[in-house]
Amino acid sequence: MAIKSINPYTLEISKSYDEMTNKEIDEAVNVAYSTYQNWKKTSFEERAAILNNVGSILRSKKNELARLITLEMGKLIKQAEYEIDYAVSIFEYYAENAKDFLADESLKVDVGEAFIKKSPIGVLLGVEPWNFPFYQVARFAAPNIMIGNTILLKHASNVPQCAKAIEDIFKEANAPEGLYTNLFIRGSKVTKLIADKRIQGASLTGSEKAGSELAMMAGKYIKKSVLELGGSDPFIVLEDADIDRTVNLAIIGRTINNGQSCIAAKRFIIVEKIAKEFLTKFKTKMSTLQLGDPMNMETQLGPVSSEDALNTLLNQVNKAVSEGAKIEIGGKRANLKGFFMEPTIISNITSKMEIYKEELFGPVASFYVVQNEEEAITLANDTEFGLGCSIFTKNLEKAKKLANQIDSGMVFINHPTKSSIELPFGGTKNSGYGRELSPLGIDEFVNKKLIRVLTEEDKL
Ligand code: NAP
Repeated sequence: MAIKSINPYTLEISKSYDEMTNKEIDEAVNVAYSTYQNWKKTSFEERAAILNNVGSILRSKKNELARLITLEMGKLIKQAEYEIDYAVSIFEYYAENAKDFLADESLKVDVGEAFIKKSPIGVLLGVEPWNFPFYQVARFAAPNIMIGNTILLKHASNVPQCAKAIEDIFKEANAPEGLYTNLFIRGSKVTKLIADKRIQGASLTGSEKAGSELAMMAGKYIKKSVLELGGSDPFIVLEDADIDRTVNLAIIGRTINNGQSCIAAKRFIIVEKIAKEFLTKFKTKMSTLQLGDPMNMETQLGPVSSEDALNTLLNQVNKAVSEGAKIEIGGKRANLKGFFMEPTIISNITSKMEIYKEELFGPVASFYVVQNEEEAITLANDTEFGLGCSIFTKNLEKAKKLANQIDSGMVFINHPTKSSIELPFGGTKNSGYGRELSPLGIDEFVNKKLIRVLTEEDKL
């Protein structure tokens, strides 16, 4: 079956690619494996030169690549441009800092010398989602290439043009063949690859289902794995918060990337005293967002990525309503040609409803009222996810104490969860394990090798 690029705004198929045959996949793994034998011996300077080239080419093609993102998955063009800038900065960050991050670490010993040397482990398989087609790849590929690993990259099937563009950029950047290889394969082929002896580790960003299948195989074949999965981030507002500022951030938090971000604010948990005012203002702002062509700089909300994604959202909302939830605004497919969901706010949600447990991957906000902050924390933690969380209050000391009670990988005080190069990104519980970005992001697929040095006279 061909891998197709379908524009979620116009619904046109813009390009289609053949899936790789088993023979082609085997050849790609072979080349990645033999390149690894040389790449692991290269210096940090040689590796950094390639990543800096990749960064420069990305920067020089920013407009063209941003348009490709928007064309394939419907991201607003302004946000697509930002994504390219951000990907550039990730390549440059690891090119500049990897040598320090991977420096030998000496250990205190009574006799002789001991230190940890961070060495590469081999060929890695990255499985990436469509929602940030360049940024997701950058945060996996850049640190691992600096370690000395080589990369096979299986991108989401709805962004093949972005996938191909990234591979072409590596070629143009003088990367040796096999350093970074795009695999045009379906998700179902991934599990077989994990069993391959030439591959030493795998990382997946995506759904719990795909993550669990990958991790099962990684466990079976004893391969290191990292999982960056879904989230249902709470956005907690305490009674002393600046409501206007917080409502503005709530809109950004919920609708960034047309609502399709793992760290988007999804559950709005508001203390009763201010809940009515917050909801009134939230509804007004959400319902006046301008929907339309994501290529247009004025558009505030674009389509979701696919018909399946839209139907999933509509089914989740309809089910919640049938179980007694209340639609405050929206709730339907928008009256436009593309895959548009109306900006939606749902209230009266109880713990018995499916929507209470699920991730809503689109512009649909769940709205909850709580009596106090203890209730807010209990509700925030009552989820199988544990990716991000945000807390809004003027009382920073209280906020830090509350942050300590939240079961998630990231907590932001007075800002929605946000990715930054220098900060670790990742989750706990069903949101996965392992970290990307920051110094921690270069610490996953390394062999932390102990080197113990003694003279012939030393006694242990
Ligand atoms: P998805 O279906 O799991 O797809 C993600 C990637 O996994 C795609 O490349 C997909 O390939 C592949 N895949 C699908 N089934 C697979 C399987 N059985 N074995 C191996 N690979 C498989 O995810 P999605 O629903 O498109 O993406 C959205 C999800 O990703 C959301 O839950 C979101 O929260 C999460 N996400 C998490 C983070 C994070 O950092 N924590 C960041 C972004 C997104 P095909 O396209 O060929 O199916």
